[in-house]
Amino acid sequence: MSITLDATVNKLLRKVRITENSAIVFKDIVACDGHDDEAILRIVTHAHQDHLCGLRESIRKTPLIGMTEATYDILKALDYDIPENKTLILDYGEEVKIKDVIVSLHKAKHIIGAAQVLVIDEEGQRLVYTGDFKLPSTPILESDLLVIEATYGNPSHVRPFKYEVEDLFADLVKSSLAKGPVYVFGYHGKIQEAMEILRSKGIDAPFIAPRKVYRVTKAAVKHGLQVKEVFYYRSFEADEIIKSGWYVFFAHLSAARTYSNRSAVNIVLSGWEFTEPLRQINEKTYLVALSDHADFEDLLEYVKRSRPKVVITDASREGSAYMLAREIRRKLSIPAIALP
Ligand SMILES: [Zn+2]
Repeated sequence: MSITLDATVNKLLRKVRITENSAIVFKDIVACDGHDDEAILRIVTHAHQDHLCGLRESIRKTPLIGMTEATYDILKALDYDIPENKTLILDYGEEVKIKDVIVSLHKAKHIIGAAQVLVIDEEGQRLVYTGDFKLPSTPILESDLLVIEATYGNPSHVRPFKYEVEDLFADLVKSSLAKGPVYVFGYHGKIQEAMEILRSKGIDAPFIAPRKVYRVTKAAVKHGLQVKEVFYYRSFEADEIIKSGWYVFFAHLSAARTYSNRSAVNIVLSGWEFTEPLRQINEKTYLVALSDHADFEDLLEYVKRSRPKVVITDASREGSAYMLAREIRRKLSIPAIALP
């Protein structure tokens, strides 16, 4: 690295580790989104698979598992069983003291229940981990040390069409429904966001979902998701609806082979699209660029307004952490490194 780190920065860097198994560990006390043997508190920022690394091990070994109530409910829907005496439900902004540090969760616009993590240590230093987020609607936390996600950390990862995707998606579903059922594939959280978008744009066809998607949706509804009725696909009602041919079926991307329907329109929700908001793959398949992540410009915007003394980009997950760290050094003149 071409920049020299001063003593303050070096001292800050010693307060955090990012491990090979994707844990962001503050002060050896708080481990976020990955398991760490030494930690006292495991934080789950949100219920996406790449942030649940080693969660079953943490449930066995770590004294406390901390998360928002919505995330707790989604984890339950995904068959994670956290014992009551280890469960630490935190509201946004609520502080808990663990040893010498004060930990709090703050809203992240991503999936329902998603949180950023703020750790204030005994010297009053603010150590922040953004988790996954997008802008606007994610409050920017001031920090001394900032750990930031780097999914779209490549300067070419800029979406010029941020605001038109939702309308194009709804129009596609609307016109397709006139001809038959529509199948939508995505990740947990994004599926529920898609449901809410369609409802808000006036689509009132019945929604059908297989077990886990159905259960995650129910958990999200409990926490404010507006989707009206959703039917479990093995139910009597769903059978009748499927016969009618007028419905939207939502399934997890990993089950696309199982559920995709050759005679219906299939829509895949993907964040990895930067050229067009909507792309036709073949006669019956479309890709919609619905993203839950900050693009490159938004990542820089967060760093700039958070005003950290040093930034660590998370290289333990998919993304462009090294490139993002380089751009932060170049464009913002703030020391930045990618870890691990
Ligand atoms: Zn995520």
